[in-house]
Amino acid sequence: MKKLVGAGEILVEIMAERIGQSFLEPGPLLGPYPSGAPAIFIGQAAALSQPAGLIGAVGDDDFGRLNIERLRTLGADVSAIAVHKGHATGTAFVTYRADASRHFVFNIRNSAAGLIETNAAAINLLAGADHVHVMGSSLFSDRAIAVALSAIETVKAKGGTVSFDPNIRREIMQASGMRAALDQVLAQADIFLPSGEELFLFSSARDEKGAVEELLARGLSCIVLKKGAAGAVYHDRHGAVASSGYAVDEVDPTGAGDCFGAAFVSFWLRGAAPAEALRIANACGALAVTRKGPMEGIFPLEAVEAFVATGNTR
Ligand code: ATP
Ligand code: MG
Repeated sequence: MKKLVGAGEILVEIMAERIGQSFLEPGPLLGPYPSGAPAIFIGQAAALSQPAGLIGAVGDDDFGRLNIERLRTLGADVSAIAVHKGHATGTAFVTYRADASRHFVFNIRNSAAGLIETNAAAINLLAGADHVHVMGSSLFSDRAIAVALSAIETVKAKGGTVSFDPNIRREIMQASGMRAALDQVLAQADIFLPSGEELFLFSSARDEKGAVEELLARGLSCIVLKKGAAGAVYHDRHGAVASSGYAVDEVDPTGAGDCFGAAFVSFWLRGAAPAEALRIANACGALAVTRKGPMEGIFPLEAVEAFVATGNTR
């Protein structure tokens, strides 16, 4: 089976317990939960039995140990996760507003996560990689951008493939060089996994069809547009395949896009037809939102297949 590698932020997430709760005053918090978009992605891929590993960095603290232990338990290759003494693991504090929007206080660049580098362990992991996945949120500093771009270069040089999820968080969009790096990664991607409005960040077209045509003409092999509870649509130069979402009670939306992407890419790497890859991906996205915490809704392939068999789509 093909090996998938991710690179980027490893965090713990700590969330406000109540909707509408503010960080301007004390309140109940839940967590720490293992998190970080590329970590969620690699964890879900590993749970689906795809060989998968992550390049990243944590502190020599319980937050770091929690993350490494979770990824290892899910079956991921954690050999390229560096542990830095004297630096704390990255964090994300999140509040949920009544309008369903989420607001984050991130500590990524100045945490151990910011020390990400292409060290000997990373080079070793990349030597066995067939595919690299990049999250836009992982392009948070010049150093992190350099790691992502060198991973792409290494994997592409031996005929491998690249997937890209812009995963825009407005709290980190201002990072210097991020916008240019997003464009650079997109230019080398085979699979593009935007969600909602992210489709329009990279094209001049104002409607979905126009944006898809423009992006496919730039060399992408396929675009998979995530649409939350409504499911997702796959596009390639032969046409489109739509797949409805599953009906579930949403408890916590964080992580759905990452679990969806991991499942789609894992099945694409196995040569599955788009409709089949979408079915599994929609199921993983739906299961992800049924649990509080971004990695708590990651399930192994057998459980995902059993869920798909219920056929409980919208
Ligand atoms: P994230 O917030 O993790 O970045 P995203 O914006 O990238 O998520 P979404 O479109 O919100 O991506 O969700 C990804 C996929 O997860 C959807 O395409 C769908 O398959 C599934 N999903 C998300 N929310 C729900 C829901 N409420 N009910 C069922 N499925 C859902
Ligand atoms: Mg996303």
